[in-house]
Amino acid sequence: MFQPRSGLEVLPTYSVEEISWPIRLDANESPYDMPPAVKAKVVETLSSLQFNRYPELTAHSLKTTIAAGFGLKAANVLVGNGSSEILEKLCYAFGGAGRSIVYPSPSFSMYKIYAKLADSKPVPVALNEDYTLDADALLEAAKQAEASVILLCNPNNPTGGVLPPEQIEYIVANTQSLVVIDEAYHEFYGKTSVDLLGKYQNVAIARTFSKAYGLASARIGFLLTSESIAQTLGKVILPYCVNALTLATAEIVYNMRQEYAAGIAENSRERIRMAAALSALDGITVYPSQTNFLLIKSDTISEIIEKLSAKGIGIRDFSKVPGLINCIRSGVGTPAENNAVLEALTL
Ligand code: PMP
Repeated sequence: MFQPRSGLEVLPTYSVEEISWPIRLDANESPYDMPPAVKAKVVETLSSLQFNRYPELTAHSLKTTIAAGFGLKAANVLVGNGSSEILEKLCYAFGGAGRSIVYPSPSFSMYKIYAKLADSKPVPVALNEDYTLDADALLEAAKQAEASVILLCNPNNPTGGVLPPEQIEYIVANTQSLVVIDEAYHEFYGKTSVDLLGKYQNVAIARTFSKAYGLASARIGFLLTSESIAQTLGKVILPYCVNALTLATAEIVYNMRQEYAAGIAENSRERIRMAAALSALDGITVYPSQTNFLLIKSDTISEIIEKLSAKGIGIRDFSKVPGLINCIRSGVGTPAENNAVLEALTL
C-alpha cells in the first residue's frame, strides 16, 4: 500500500484559523489595497495579457527590473511564489538529508518546516529573554551542527526586533554556512544587509511584495545573491513557476514603488502610536518593533484575545507557544482599525 514519504507523518499541516475577521490584523498584511494609480496600470496591462501563452521561462523581465533597483545584474536575482517558495527552495538546494539548518527562535514558524521538508535537521537557537540574539551562541550552534544554512529574520517575525547591522556582518564573516537574511519587513525598518553581497560569498537576501507592497494575493517574492548561488537555486526552481499575471503586476508595483511611501510612513506612525497607547494600559508589555506588527504580552492575554475577537478583530495567538507564552501578535492596521483595537481594550 502506498504511504507518504518517511518524516511527513510528524509534520503539521500549516494551520492558521481561517476566520474572515472584519478587522484582519492576524497575517501581517498591508491594510491598504493598491494605490489607485498602480491599480489602473495593472488592470490596463492585464487586459492585454495573452492568457494562452506561458509566462517568460525564467522571469527575466522582472529580474532585470529588480536588479536595476539594487545596482545588481539579473543573474543575481531569483523570483518565486512569495518569499516562502524561495526560502523553501534554498533549504532544498543547500540543505538536504543529514544536513542542519540553524535559526534563532522564536522566529518565523515556517523555517522549521522548510528544514524538515528538505530532510534537514532544524536547529533553533533560543533568543535572549528580551529577544535579542547572542551571535556567538548562534555561531557555536552552527559550528557544532556543521550547519549548511543559517536563517536570520531581520526584522524578526513575530518579535518585531532587529539585529544590529554589525551583528549580522559578524555572523556572516565568522561562518562557513550560507547566511540567508529574510528581510520580509525591510520597508518598515529601512536598513538592509544588501551591501554584504559585495563583500561576502555566503549571503542571500530574501524580500517579499506581500507586506509593504500589499501584494499578498499575488504571491511574489525575490532573492538577491551571488550568481553562483542563484545558478544552483535555479536547479530546484521549476520553469514558469511564477504566473504571468503576477509577474506583470509585480513589475508595475516595483516600478511605481514610490506610490507606497505614504502608506508605509503612515503605518510606521501608527505603530508608534499603538505601541505607546498599548504600553500605557495596565499589565501590557509591547516589544520594540520595526515592522508592521507588534508583539504584545500580558498575564491576562486570554481576556485580551476575547475582547478583541468580540469586536471582530483577528490577531495571531502565540500565547501557548514556548518562548512566546502570554503573547499575541497584532498587525498595525489603518488608523480606524487601530482605534477599534484601543476601544476594545479600554471600554
Ligand atoms: N518571511 C517572513 C519573516 C514572513 O513573516 C513571511 C510571511 N508571513 C514570509 C517570509 C513569507 O512571505 P511571502 O511568502 O508572502 O512572501
